[in-house]
Amino acid sequence: MHSFKRHLTGLTGLSVMVASVGVLALPLSSDNWASPPHWSYAGESGPSHWSAMDPRFVACGQGKAQSPIDLESRDAKSGKAGEFHIDYEKGAVALVNNGHTVQANVSDAKDTVVFDGDTYRLSQFHFHAPSEHVTDGTRFPLEIHFVNEDGKKRVAVVGVMVKLGKPNESLAPVLKSLPATETEKSTNASPPVTVDLASVLPHNHKAYVYTGSLTTPPCTEGVHWIVLTEPIQMSSDQIATFTRLFPDNHRPLQKANGREIDNESD
Ligand SMILES: [Zn+2]
Repeated sequence: MHSFKRHLTGLTGLSVMVASVGVLALPLSSDNWASPPHWSYAGESGPSHWSAMDPRFVACGQGKAQSPIDLESRDAKSGKAGEFHIDYEKGAVALVNNGHTVQANVSDAKDTVVFDGDTYRLSQFHFHAPSEHVTDGTRFPLEIHFVNEDGKKRVAVVGVMVKLGKPNESLAPVLKSLPATETEKSTNASPPVTVDLASVLPHNHKAYVYTGSLTTPPCTEGVHWIVLTEPIQMSSDQIATFTRLFPDNHRPLQKANGREIDNESD
């Protein structure tokens, strides 16, 4: 069992644009919120209970554009080329175990995603086991989420599937340094790890593009998802370095509710 802190961590710590924020004058920074309840991936605090655990989590149960979803290429429409562009570089990341995943915090401002003409900066990436999205019926051993935010705190997430295969040299420095126990938020004690993010991504940036939500409470909607169709590879030993810590941290599939899925490449 993992211990969980009673404050927002990881993806839930993102301040994401809330539709009614202007009217209700909610604090944009989640750090100002009262402690949310403990949530997890199983049992009484698992995904089917998230929405009932806190009024702020209501979208997890009542949202109509939730993530993850089943992505079928036969349903995907061809998007216009150049609607997104991912430009990641080599840089230092700080690894944090937040009780829900291992997250690599990125402080460089160089890593960007341009989506619909808007620039999003990479704030962190983290892992899910097994994959949350399913593509053409395939669930992968891991999925990596690269979380990018624009100046208005809107979120675009690049999803990268990981299949069993050759050792991944680009991610090796990260996988060797995964913090085994929950890290205090205030102490990024582990030394920074240098990772070449450009070489982590697959060569082909063809993607499923759709609008969904955070896959963790508060499940906020309006997230631009760019799920790359080409998986990257990791060895079974590398996959195990994560699954030993988090054997299952995936949210079940959500209903597509007629949402449009586009096939795009950058
Ligand atoms: Zn995620």
